[in-house]
Amino acid sequence: GQCANLCPVGAIYETPDWKKVLRLIERKDKILIAQTAPAVRVAIGEEFGMEPGSISTGKMVAAVKRLGFDYVFDTNFAADLTIMEEGTELIHRLKEGGPFPMFTSCCPGWINLLEKQYPEFINNVSSAKSPQQMMSSVIKTYFAKKIGVDPEDIVVVSIMPCTAKKDEITRPQQKIKLEDGREIKATDYVITTREFAKLIKFKEINFMGLPDEEYDNPLGTSTGAGAIFGVTGGVMEAALRTAYEILTEEKLPKLEFTAVRGLEGIREAEIDIKGKKFKVAIAHGTASVKRLLDDMKDGRRYYDFVEIMACLGGCIGGGGQPKSLDPEILQKRANAIYTIDERSTLRRSHENPDVQKLYAEFLEKPYSHIAHKLLHTYYTDRTKNKDKAMSS
Ligand code: SF4
Repeated sequence: GQCANLCPVGAIYETPDWKKVLRLIERKDKILIAQTAPAVRVAIGEEFGMEPGSISTGKMVAAVKRLGFDYVFDTNFAADLTIMEEGTELIHRLKEGGPFPMFTSCCPGWINLLEKQYPEFINNVSSAKSPQQMMSSVIKTYFAKKIGVDPEDIVVVSIMPCTAKKDEITRPQQKIKLEDGREIKATDYVITTREFAKLIKFKEINFMGLPDEEYDNPLGTSTGAGAIFGVTGGVMEAALRTAYEILTEEKLPKLEFTAVRGLEGIREAEIDIKGKKFKVAIAHGTASVKRLLDDMKDGRRYYDFVEIMACLGGCIGGGGQPKSLDPEILQKRANAIYTIDERSTLRRSHENPDVQKLYAEFLEKPYSHIAHKLLHTYYTDRTKNKDKAMSS
């Protein structure tokens, strides 16, 4: 049938990931750690009758705990970490004269498109891993050491708005190499927001009746800059907040880069950093993304820094999010994301005290040798490998 053409081979009869996670929870022979992406908290409530645009971070954390996880960490923490690495990379490139344009790297949907259709841009994409993969790498090294357990006794489950994240965790270059030479997967399982809701319903947890609970430490603290990763333009804005302050050594007069916000498919802006004009662009949704990339390829457009998100709206509109008939759904979820940012006491990634501590205790400094080993990756040209391209 139709599905045979669309689904990866073998995936049709495979156990869905939420059932695998259910087994893990019931078996309970490993330390179970969950991480939740920025866009999940502004959508999961819809599955339980809440108004679109509701923020249910506290209930979501409580639900993960009720499911039996030992720790719940915030992918937003790793988004801040991504900004430290990617922002430093940007500054490096500015000092070294390139390569420009630089592209963001946190969307695996975009990375698949890059490798299969736009390999000429491979060297332009930031080498920073996505927040999901940075988080799991830190959990299985820094945190495992902190609690004194073997990394292989830990299982990391990511709760993501995204189906492409499932495939990202299987990439061979996403494995982490431990000090003793073992190579292990960073993230073990990815379940989508909808699968997470299925688990909650299956376990008969009364989501609406849950109290608000807090993330665990030390990987649960995040800033408003980490929060806005969930919406198109957010990674760009978060990166600008940090890069601007590092480059100028001055506090930003106004934190909101409103020019990069909105839901238009392609947006562009010129940012003045110390008298240097910095041209940035943002594209989301496959059609706009391809239009922008084709224009850049043919020299019709030029930018210094570009954010790409494969889904319309960015991760708030991810393929794993609750289905909605509300025509304003993306705007409502986006508003919720910006509200989280506004309400945050810390709004710049470089101000995250636990990220600072992680560098002081373990990673040394952004872009250090160990940071490179754990938090950066590479991409390969997959245009010639037709078989592989067909099946994923
Ligand atoms: Fe995943 Fe879509 Fe977000 Fe990309 S934009 S990371 S494909 S949810």
